Amino acid sequence: MMPSSFHRNWGAGIDGNGKEGTSAIVLSGGYEDDLDLGDEIVYTGAGGNDPNSGRQVEDQSWNNRGNAGLVTSRDKGLPVRVIRGHTHKSTFSPKTGYLYGGIYSVVDAWEEVGKSGFKICRFRLMYSGGNTNRRLAEEIETGDEDDKPTVRREGTILRIIRDTKMARLVKELYNHECQVCSFTIDGKKSRYAEGAHIKGLGKPHSGSDTMNNIICLCPNHHVMFDKGLFCINNDFTLLGQLSGKLVVKPQHKLKISNLEYHRKCHGYS
Ligand SMILES: [Zn+2]
Repeated sequence: MMPSSFHRNWGAGIDGNGKEGTSAIVLSGGYEDDLDLGDEIVYTGAGGNDPNSGRQVEDQSWNNRGNAGLVTSRDKGLPVRVIRGHTHKSTFSPKTGYLYGGIYSVVDAWEEVGKSGFKICRFRLMYSGGNTNRRLAEEIETGDEDDKPTVRREGTILRIIRDTKMARLVKELYNHECQVCSFTIDGKKSRYAEGAHIKGLGKPHSGSDTMNNIICLCPNHHVMFDKGLFCINNDFTLLGQLSGKLVVKPQHKLKISNLEYHRKCHGYS
């Protein structure tokens, strides 16, 4: 991969920097907290690990060149090539050598405490195309991969908000007005706002789809909240890039531990 510039770093898993974003990552089993679901990958950032055991021995930093590169890829919507090595423990890994996994989009970034007790930078990557030979998780589970033709899904990640019933209820409670700024979008037929889950639904957060975990936000404040540019204190005052207080109706009982979880994810603990 080095001579062709497919991945330009020897040893390091992330080929990128904060200015230009990340062009490629390699999963090679170097990080104990990685999670590979095929089309969805929860990737651990770079730094702080023992290259021999893969164990974390110190905190990771967002200033690390590779981690900053993945944040930039998320913010600018830049595609990332994903390559899996044979030492990466996953059903999607090749038995020998390295295997191209396709183009992925970085859709989320947060921090947490990893298995060994140190801060790790985490990224969620979603498959968005470029690999017509990829194996789907369902095929591997059922052993059907050689028998049945499979529809290969292609696409790019757009910012589509698919509401759950619970999110609709929360938005109706606030008449589609943002709980941060009270703004609403008056559409031709109906008002528009977005339901934001405080503790994310996907792994490893595994937040619940319940009204106590959802707030009604305008699109701008939803993006800012998901990026952790502001967080909410237990008394609903805002911190980070915003000040003021979240509007909360008495009948809307938010789960305080989820506010704490969101703050922790974005380094406000
Ligand atoms: Zn707003």
